[in-house]
Amino acid sequence: MSLRVSRRRPLVAQSEIRNMSIECAKVGGINLAQGVCDLPVPESVIRGAEEAMRRGSNIYTRFDGRVELRRAIAARQLRDTGLDADPEGQVVVSAGATGAFYSACLALLDEGDEVMVFEPYYGYHIVTLASLGIKPVFVTLAPPNWEFAAADLERAVTPRTRAIILNTPSNPAGKVFSREELSLVADFAQAHDLFVFTDEIYENFVFDGLAHIAPATLPGMARRTITISGLSKVFAITGWRIGYAICDPEWALAIGHFSDLVYVCAPAPLQLGAARGLEELGPDYYQGVAKDHQRKRDLFCATLRDIGLTPHVPAGAYYTLADISTLPGDTAKARAMHLLERTGVACVPGSAFYQGDTGETLARFCFAKEMKILEDAMRRLRTLPS
Ligand code: PLP
Repeated sequence: MSLRVSRRRPLVAQSEIRNMSIECAKVGGINLAQGVCDLPVPESVIRGAEEAMRRGSNIYTRFDGRVELRRAIAARQLRDTGLDADPEGQVVVSAGATGAFYSACLALLDEGDEVMVFEPYYGYHIVTLASLGIKPVFVTLAPPNWEFAAADLERAVTPRTRAIILNTPSNPAGKVFSREELSLVADFAQAHDLFVFTDEIYENFVFDGLAHIAPATLPGMARRTITISGLSKVFAITGWRIGYAICDPEWALAIGHFSDLVYVCAPAPLQLGAARGLEELGPDYYQGVAKDHQRKRDLFCATLRDIGLTPHVPAGAYYTLADISTLPGDTAKARAMHLLERTGVACVPGSAFYQGDTGETLARFCFAKEMKILEDAMRRLRTLPS
């Protein structure tokens, strides 16, 4: 028999986040590796989905999603970010932000293209690109503020560059791109005629009075930007698979056709649950969630500092990258495993977010946990000899 897996198979390995989650389960530890939030799902979201199921909304939806959800997404975008999108033609509901990103890559990029990505990066972006034969080219953000300069962008661009990815707030650094930084990217994208793929899944988790700015709202950016986000994080429904892309109608149609091809549609009744949440929850809800995460960030980062694992305090999202170089081991993986064995707390080795060695002294912790679980994790971490 000469059957074999595809040549792209080796490019899609099990992620380090899943690996550490498996190791954590083996020792019955506390999983701060996985980026899931323990907050309760808002009641209106549950009720909306339940009613939709009972009323028979259990069949395929249109390839770009239910109109109720497209309208609710467009209304919230306009209210919160000023992004003005037509729900008939510019909004495509997807199976999570992940589904939107994959469909957008299929629809708008070709094998051999290059895409610029800021590092530290979200691994799924890189694996998606690689699996499609698209080359990621990295622009490294410099701590503590995760900065970059226009010259860094110019150094990375080639005649093959077709797009740049902007993840704001970012995973894993929690970087919130400022208007000045977004303007640099906007000028650059216009000068080199690039698509801008955003990933704004953490847009509601921004701290210290900062504001999330949707890159598509910058002058000249609406036509070239694919705004990608979703409800996984803000409604704590990562398992429901509800996300979306907003863009120019021509790109939206192409993205919708590819998402139709790959998974037909996002789960129908769950789309209606998400729509209900968007319709009924007001600014208080979003502010409350952000405040809760900020409080947990402060407590968790203080603990890391006390035990000598100096954190990079994030401006948004719900992760912190911390310096774990004081832990025994030669690699981030060995150090993360030591931490798990010693304290029962799982994190993600920083090597999962960098190409070179930079990540070997870092680890990512997710602090979006129920308070009593986070407290338990902090108590266990404090048992580390300092
Ligand atoms: N984008 C980023 C940056 C993420 O960190 C995650 C999940 O951790 C996702 C997308 C996944 O979003 P979704 O559940 O909507 O596919």
